Amino acid sequence: MSQKGGKSWPYQEARKILSELEARKETSGTVLFQTGFGPSGLPHIGTFAEVARTSFVRHAFGILSGLPSRIIAFSDDMDGLRKVPLNMPNRQELASHLGKPLSKIPDPFRQAESYSGFMNDKLREFLDRFGFEYEFRSSAKQYSSGAFDEGLMGVLQNYDAIRNLVRPTLRQEKREHWSPFLPLCSQCGRYTTRVVASHPERDSISYICDQGFGQLPASPKTAGVATEVATSAADGASSSVESAPSAAAKARSKQLVEGCGHEEETLVTGGRVKVGWKVDWALRWYTFGIHYEMYGKDLIESARLSGRITRILGRRPPVGFFYEMFLNEKGEKISKSVGKGLTVDTWLDYAPLESLTHYLFLNPRKARRLHYDVIPKETDAYLKDLRGWPKLDEARQLDNAIRFVHRTTVPEPWGGSITFSLVQNLVAAISSDDEELIFNYLQRYEEKVAENPEPVRNLIRGALAYYRDHLARLRKKRLPTREELPAFEHFAASLESTEDFSPEALQSLAFDTTRALGLDQRSFFTSCYEVLLGFQRGPRLGTFVALIGPRKIAARLREAVQKAGEA
Ligand SMILES: [Zn+2]
Repeated sequence: MSQKGGKSWPYQEARKILSELEARKETSGTVLFQTGFGPSGLPHIGTFAEVARTSFVRHAFGILSGLPSRIIAFSDDMDGLRKVPLNMPNRQELASHLGKPLSKIPDPFRQAESYSGFMNDKLREFLDRFGFEYEFRSSAKQYSSGAFDEGLMGVLQNYDAIRNLVRPTLRQEKREHWSPFLPLCSQCGRYTTRVVASHPERDSISYICDQGFGQLPASPKTAGVATEVATSAADGASSSVESAPSAAAKARSKQLVEGCGHEEETLVTGGRVKVGWKVDWALRWYTFGIHYEMYGKDLIESARLSGRITRILGRRPPVGFFYEMFLNEKGEKISKSVGKGLTVDTWLDYAPLESLTHYLFLNPRKARRLHYDVIPKETDAYLKDLRGWPKLDEARQLDNAIRFVHRTTVPEPWGGSITFSLVQNLVAAISSDDEELIFNYLQRYEEKVAENPEPVRNLIRGALAYYRDHLARLRKKRLPTREELPAFEHFAASLESTEDFSPEALQSLAFDTTRALGLDQRSFFTSCYEVLLGFQRGPRLGTFVALIGPRKIAARLREAVQKAGEA
């Protein structure tokens, strides 16, 4: 096996794919990565995260093997509409289409040929906008074109084996009637059906349209979830749930459609019948010969079961990889579908896209916060890596996030030592959101700003927006206490007389003050931040003083001391 490549997780994953190719005895062809999308809602930051991480593994695989590969973005647009998501226009009309395939429901926005057509367009726009390389596939088109027919007949040939495998994983009340097939009623066009007999000898099944379809009474989080419930957990718009239990219960009772009573025998091919979710996953893996797919930790059991179904059908399942759930602002786990606390656009309001991609490169097996408060730190982590990149040797570059964020064209580092947090503290210190003024300060402090001003300006704009939206209200400036006055006067005097304006020299002046007056260093620094910035913490004090200018800081301190004396 190849010894090329690095040690980081995408290479480890890529090596598993190489082993899988050996196990399959595949020596030619394109290696396929897959990522799924539930088109009942719009793409969101969870979609972005999954495609970004899949792209990392694909990139590593390319470095390791040089083999051709593709990412398939698969849209589950044959799924039935289970409930009308909130924030949708024409909701009443949508409600009349509950239980029908998303690809057969008119677009409530009146822009595409169907509900899922609209969502699929949005998915493609979303992925294109961020420069992802992928091939889009629609489930409905695959079914109707007959691409799945061979696999569907395989499911029918192995009907009992698949049933026996899946039924023990279901809730008791679902077990009796469970079938791998979900026929579309030819009369009412809904999935309100139940399979009553299978006829492998003539590629058909018999069904009766007598089931309810829609929001099920159980929560999607319940263990041993039914296949359909899991589907709705994996789609986007289902994150919009009404909060009051009574309202939710009311919505549930309203959003359940009943079958029309039609009975029929139908072929399983040609899109007349779809398979349930876990079987759908297996059907795709089997039909396309997928080599790699990742999924959230909540789907580990589903993936395992789907793998076993794929083997029953006669092929090997892909290499799977689960990522830990993201955490919301309270530290609670959120599923891929519920990234509603933070959107990609919100991130872009504050920081460059590369900082988000950089964040997602961190080990996916660790739960990560997906909340706006990670943005300052993660932006600075990205800048640090970008600035450190030219100093790395080739082996280290191979494993560095920058290699994956920028791939072949790593930009020149910019801005010298300017960081997101530095800009924020500057904004707080000068109490101004004047972009030009801040830029001038930074330019005086760091000569590299002039070499490539545009990214610095973008950083300023983002940091200003972040400050306005999230930090300004937390700011609490105060006057020095009587006990602090001598220290501030001492520090001000040394800043007035110093001729060395370097951050290091200014930092040692602060230390001199604490030593001269026998003060605790940490509490003196905190006092300075509280009085000068209005926050309890700040940048390195010497850096901050150098940025604003020691004489100006001295004047500020004198002013604060005087006001405290008058108070
Ligand atoms: Zn019907």
